Amino acid sequence: MLRHKYIRETYVVDQVQSVVIGAGVVGLAVGRALAQSGREVIVLEGADAIGTGTSSRNSEVIHAGIYYPTGSLKARLCVKGKEQLYAFCAEKGVDVRRCGKLIVATSAEQVAQLEHIQKRPLPMVCMTCSYSAASRPGRLNPSWNAMQPFSPSTGIVDSHGLMLALQGDMENAGGALALLSPVASAQVQSDGILIRTADGTELLAQEVVNAAGLFAPSVASKIQGLDACHVPQAFYAKGNYFTLSGRAPFSHLIYPVPEAAGLGVHLTLDLGDRPNLAPTCSG
Ligand SMILES: Cc1cc2nc3c(=O)[nH]c(=O)nc-3n(C[C@H](O)[C@H](O)[C@H](O)COP(=O)(O)OP(=O)(O)OC[C@H]3O[C@@H](n4cnc5c(N)ncnc54)[C@H](O)[C@@H]3O)c2cc1C
Repeated sequence: MLRHKYIRETYVVDQVQSVVIGAGVVGLAVGRALAQSGREVIVLEGADAIGTGTSSRNSEVIHAGIYYPTGSLKARLCVKGKEQLYAFCAEKGVDVRRCGKLIVATSAEQVAQLEHIQKRPLPMVCMTCSYSAASRPGRLNPSWNAMQPFSPSTGIVDSHGLMLALQGDMENAGGALALLSPVASAQVQSDGILIRTADGTELLAQEVVNAAGLFAPSVASKIQGLDACHVPQAFYAKGNYFTLSGRAPFSHLIYPVPEAAGLGVHLTLDLGDRPNLAPTCSG
């Protein structure tokens, strides 16, 4: 790692092929893939541990891609990624459970919306999501009179276990993780991208992947020489999670019909069967 030295004017700068900014689930997965493809890679993380951002503050649901438009990249990646994720977790011993998901309609309008979702010509989705006889109204819970499509391949995953497994694979392939190394600025040059961390360390990289999550727009705006069209705009929303005391009365995840701005407040389970209601979101 960092074998090459590069003389820059009067001082020496370390060089590396690939830098990934951020050690959330995305940065670690990218770092793993780059290292396994033979690249020299270093993941720079600002915090003192991996996965302290959004990757540890989510519902830990493995989605089945049922809402995405037919044939869209999102639908295809979600369906393919889901199977790859289950296989990866099985291989690495990461806790995971295919618990399935119910979508509950509570009005005639929502029933129509669900029927529309189910009738979509979604070949990828049809392979993985179907109405289950067991999910017909009254079967799972006699008191429910709502329509309940069942997505059996939806599941939950131990997000920390997943990130540790990604980090382990990356390091086994020669990749490195540098904690407490927040990227402060960067500059596009003819010979690469010069990265500066907050303590003044400089690294010249041939390629940089910005996986800084919520801070990705801010990191992008600090890269001198990057065209403004590549600096995304940040849109923030605040959400709260509520944990119900006791064990969940359900063994499936339970979702409302999706809203325009998101999936709606849903009931998820963690791997200890603790039920959470979330996220409530406001812009
Ligand atoms: C409420 C909520 C629920 C969700 N539920 C699900 C779900 O059930 N299933 C699902 O698949 N997805 C879910 N998601 C989405 C998923 O959690 C995110 O897409 C994913 O975690 C993003 O990972 P990331 O690595 O891009 O970002 P992050 O996990 O935020 O990682 C970014 C990392 O970059 C680091 N960083 C920031 N700035 C710098 C810097 N300047 N220098 C170095 N490091 C820096 C941060 O410290 C952090 O570690 C949910 C999201 C939310 C908000």
